[in-house]
Amino acid sequence: MPKEVFEERELILEIFPGTSPRLLPLGEVLYYRDLEGRVHITEEPHHLVLEPLEAAPAYAPVICEACLRQLSRQEARFFRFEVGVGEGHYRYLSFCHDTRQCASLALPERLREILLRAIMP
Ligand SMILES: [Zn+2]
Repeated sequence: MPKEVFEERELILEIFPGTSPRLLPLGEVLYYRDLEGRVHITEEPHHLVLEPLEAAPAYAPVICEACLRQLSRQEARFFRFEVGVGEGHYRYLSFCHDTRQCASLALPERLREILLRAIMP
């Protein structure tokens, strides 16, 4: 991602602070798994944390939300995040078990879409 893109993003936010994130040039999108197994998707200033679920999906096949590949049950993991604050409503998403490999295939535009859908319901 060229440096000018980040500068353009910052400039727009500075002049028009209320600009919808969907209309901004794509920034640096990070997608990774932490030591506790949670999946993180970030594009400054937004950050989505997905909590892993123990139970494997009971049906097959599953589509990974990030790389959009069809996965077997062994390759898939289910994650959830809370919608709103403290309301106990969760949304569930499926991703590859191998986040590193998935991150090399997933398009930043797709990751941004997941992130914005989560934070702007
Ligand atoms: Zn994937």
